Amino acid sequence: CGIIGILGDHQAAPIMVDALRRLEYRGYDSAGIATIDGGVLDRRRAVGKLVNLADLLVTDPLPGFAGIGHTRWATHGVPSVANAHPQKAGRVAVVHNGIIENFRELRAELGGEWESETDTETVARLCEGFLDCGMDPKEAAFATIDRLRGAYALCFLFDGEPDLLIAARAGSPLAIGHGEGQMYVGSDAIALGPLTDRLTYLEEGDRAVVTRAGAQVFDAEGRQTHREMRRIRIDA
Ligand code: GLU
Repeated sequence: CGIIGILGDHQAAPIMVDALRRLEYRGYDSAGIATIDGGVLDRRRAVGKLVNLADLLVTDPLPGFAGIGHTRWATHGVPSVANAHPQKAGRVAVVHNGIIENFRELRAELGGEWESETDTETVARLCEGFLDCGMDPKEAAFATIDRLRGAYALCFLFDGEPDLLIAARAGSPLAIGHGEGQMYVGSDAIALGPLTDRLTYLEEGDRAVVTRAGAQVFDAEGRQTHREMRRIRIDA
């Protein structure tokens, strides 16, 4: 339901929990974050209020300057830790708003064991499969997005890639936030309010490759394209 992504120069977990708090107004039943620390991807998830995730992070901290976070409003699968996002498969973690309509076909095609009941896990599994075929993270994420039908916003994080987020928008809004040597992804300006007022809204079908140096945006056909950066001030 709510998405945050950070490539920062501070510990990402508390900043993401703050951003998720600002997204609470959208409603949610569970929440989670994943970070990369020393190249290694890990995640924490909790059912119920954000305070449950915050408490878990006190007993079981999650270091790292890069991360993705999510508040989930379940559409496929009950509210549970296993169904909370980030969903993960091998080296790929993903947060997702919306619905992947062809997830049953994708599940049947991919086969094997599933950790969750979500449509989202198919996105992570597809992407991991493309990595296994030798694609780099950008190629794998784009090939994954090409296979998805439905209305979604997505943000990917990859093990061993502490300076990379891949974001995609199809039917669910998503914005890139520009900081000073830091970059953000958020499902709306409110999520990013205190972090930056310089936003680039993705358009329908867009995918973005985000690093601390900036964002490259590609349209649905994979052509690199320019999207205007706007100043949007939110008093949070
Ligand atoms: N369809 C996904 C799920 O049920 C994402 C729901 C959301 O937008 O939070 O896990």
